[in-house]
Amino acid sequence: MRIFANVKTSINRYKDYRTMTKDDLADFYQSKCDYYQEYVWVCLVVGTILSAFYVVPDYLINGTIMPTLIPRISVLGIFVMFLIILHFYNSRIVILTADFLLVHSLVIATIWTVYSLGVKKLAGEFFIIMNLIFLIVGFVARVRGIIISYAFFILEIIISHFIIHYENLSTIMILAVPCSLAVIFSHCLWTLVYLDHYRLQQKLELAMITDPLTQVYNRHLLEKIVTKNALINMEEPIAIAMLDIDNFKKLNDDHGHYTGDLTLLYMGQKLSKETHSDDYVIRFGGEEFIVIFRKCDINNACARMEQFRQDIEKAEDSPVPFTISVGVSKYTGDFSKTIQNVNNALTKAKNSGRNSVVVV
Ligand code: GH3
Ligand code: MG
Ligand code: MG
Repeated sequence: MRIFANVKTSINRYKDYRTMTKDDLADFYQSKCDYYQEYVWVCLVVGTILSAFYVVPDYLINGTIMPTLIPRISVLGIFVMFLIILHFYNSRIVILTADFLLVHSLVIATIWTVYSLGVKKLAGEFFIIMNLIFLIVGFVARVRGIIISYAFFILEIIISHFIIHYENLSTIMILAVPCSLAVIFSHCLWTLVYLDHYRLQQKLELAMITDPLTQVYNRHLLEKIVTKNALINMEEPIAIAMLDIDNFKKLNDDHGHYTGDLTLLYMGQKLSKETHSDDYVIRFGGEEFIVIFRKCDINNACARMEQFRQDIEKAEDSPVPFTISVGVSKYTGDFSKTIQNVNNALTKAKNSGRNSVVVV
């Protein structure tokens, strides 16, 4: 039955969620917040402005807008603060705090209105409407954030009862508890639904920066590193190497293009295996690769490349025997200048008979 299939899908998503590390979860919730924050902001802006217009039903009940006018518009002060915070800050925690502050000011303004209106039995209806706002803000929050926020909501109702003495507190609670559980449960499910979107986005991002033949990074990653100046602020030493297969055109001509492809795949896989996890291995062009060695000085990078060159020369598991030439240079802080240096080093290696490592 379809319902069981849906439950099974949710269980599988939950298992996937449970495998996430603390860092993965932080990235996941940041992505969810970035994706939904525009929707939440628009809803909160419209919701807050509309809440001031509730003076109209107040007028119909009371015959005057005066007693509830100030409580209804009081939230506009917090609203201006909310807009200023959103304009200047980008951090998820600040955004969430601002969202929940606005929501709770709406709750307090509603309680103040009930107090001023004098018709206490309408409180239940007002509080049910608040669930809509909790439902909206939940899109950018973690489930535990919604639970904490609901705990405050219940507390606000109970504390205000001591001042207002709601005629129907038990009815308010009987309605508030299932509504809050429904909103919390729906956001548990929605978090798992968003996980699908997040995984798909991760796959697309990885595909964008992965070379399909060799399975190492491609030039898109290099462009990302350069445009984001990702290497500039790193304090550790960085070395860059450019590797080029010798006489690859001849290899293609002698053994066929398919064997050429297998050689490229072999080279990419071997480079990935023999570099560290925080180094970057990039297919720069046809049969040229770039390695960015992090936390590695020039001498160490040279020694590692020399070892790699010898391993390739002696390899018995490669599709066909081949050799490589390598240019190595220290990262100077200017990426294009460093690439120019490694390119010069590679040209020297080629001109001095190939199958060697040259440093510039
Ligand atoms: P050198 O030692 O000076 O580097 O000579 P080379 O023959 O390796 O260099 P050249 O630039 O003349 O030739 C590179 C060749 O790489 C030409 C091109 O057909 C081949 N090539 C580029 N991309 C691929 C690919 O994806 N698969 C295969 N099989 N060959 C490729
Ligand atoms: Mg070549
Ligand atoms: Mg080349």
